[in-house]
Amino acid sequence: MHDIVPFPTGRRLQDAFDGQTRAWAERGPLSVERRGEALEALAAALVRRADEFACAVAQDFGHRSVHETKLADLYPVVAGLRHARKHFRRWMKPRRRPIQMMFRPASARIEYQPLGVVGIISPWNYPVQLALAPLAGALAAGNRILIKPSELTPRTSALLAQVIGEVFDESEAAVVQGGPDVAQAFARLPFNHLFFTGSTAVGREVMKAAAENLVPVTLELGGKSPAIIAPDYPLERAAERIAVGKLFNAGQTCIAPDYVLVPRRREAAFVSAFRDAVARLYPNLAANPDYTAIASERHAERLRRLIDDASARGATLHEINPAGESLDPAGRKIAPVLLTGVPEEASAMQEEIFGPVLPVVSYDRVEEAIRFVKNRPHPLALYVFSHDRGFVNQVLGQTSSGGVAINETLLHCVQEELPFGGVGHSGMGAYHGEAGFRTFSHARSVFHQARINGAGMTSPPYGSRMERMLSFLLR
Ligand code: NAD
Repeated sequence: MHDIVPFPTGRRLQDAFDGQTRAWAERGPLSVERRGEALEALAAALVRRADEFACAVAQDFGHRSVHETKLADLYPVVAGLRHARKHFRRWMKPRRRPIQMMFRPASARIEYQPLGVVGIISPWNYPVQLALAPLAGALAAGNRILIKPSELTPRTSALLAQVIGEVFDESEAAVVQGGPDVAQAFARLPFNHLFFTGSTAVGREVMKAAAENLVPVTLELGGKSPAIIAPDYPLERAAERIAVGKLFNAGQTCIAPDYVLVPRRREAAFVSAFRDAVARLYPNLAANPDYTAIASERHAERLRRLIDDASARGATLHEINPAGESLDPAGRKIAPVLLTGVPEEASAMQEEIFGPVLPVVSYDRVEEAIRFVKNRPHPLALYVFSHDRGFVNQVLGQTSSGGVAINETLLHCVQEELPFGGVGHSGMGAYHGEAGFRTFSHARSVFHQARINGAGMTSPPYGSRMERMLSFLLR
């Protein structure tokens, strides 16, 4: 393990912002060549320093699987940066638009302009991915970028600051470290766009602060993402994919399945299939390098309270600890827990769980499962397990969510060609691939009048010609 000393903060937020604002005013957007070069340089730096990042994240979390850091924090960013480098010149191209007959022979097009200086606020759960994946789109679009990563992962934030400092001039992109006070001051700055990933509660505060300066926001929030298993789908397969999605990063994933809807007569079989799946995936927990710890004592305590609350309200707990180990609370590893018979008032059915706890809710008819989902705020992700096209279409047609994966969990999020974002309480706006480029660009409409044109036909003085024209247009 490399030892990483937290990087001193040093930089004052206002200085960094003023520097970038000045650079934007004087030098404008990053050149196309510089964007391509920086996208590749950052990807290469991440590849080169992957072990250092894995080590920093592990130290911040107490324990984080090195493989999960490389797979979920580094790979998606490197892939996103390289995808953007390959395609951004095409994304930048103006798009010619058709023009109505009466305005011909003028022409119309959309040009994509960078917005200016943009801010990115990121959370702790995927501290590299969620700071840098938005940067790919923002950089490809030519903006100058300020990032405020989470204070709960200080070593990773310090390493991010170092790497960004090596690849970019501070007037192009910079990292500002600090706690909630810095975060609040950050959200109050008059950015040209503010991109926030985090909780719904803080998202609301960010939007309020941004409204003061009419700063447009993208909010990537959380929520309770359901998984629905249809009567036809093999339970072992569903249980395994849900266990993989739920226990990756110990459930600290914004799109982790939050609860599962199972046909009533299959509930007991699901509990047993899930137990078997966990035992296969994680034969032991305490010393298992693949099983990640809860990142902070506050969150570990919140999860313990969530489990106790469900139990006190009459839910049945099914703890899954395949090797029967005793888990030292100081290590902050929490064994997976299934909850059955959870009353709706329990915190586990009210709050986003964000840990290895999975309520199982039974349903009799698909309409009931759909109603259950629809009675709650729109989730960030929705998972359907069925080979029955009618079932899948009914669920997709009658619900809403940021994204969907069918017969799988999590993987819709790493498709560069699919926009990623929430809807309603799970957020607004989207990114990844071209969607990220568009989020950080202004689509500017350009109408170009022809040298010889008929515009005079619609100018005063209005008379009988106009009358004839209007009776044609309004026929
Ligand atoms: P959080 O909302 O507590 O913090 C996120 C960031 O906001 C941190 O950098 C923090 O410093 C900053 N912040 C705190 N108070 C602020 C304020 N008043 N103004 C501006 N910024 C402020 O979230 P968290 O606990 O770090 O992350 C977990 C949450 O994030 C979960 O709800 C999860 O679902 C959500 N999340 C969403 C996505 C997504 O892509 N939609 C991804 C990961 C996490």
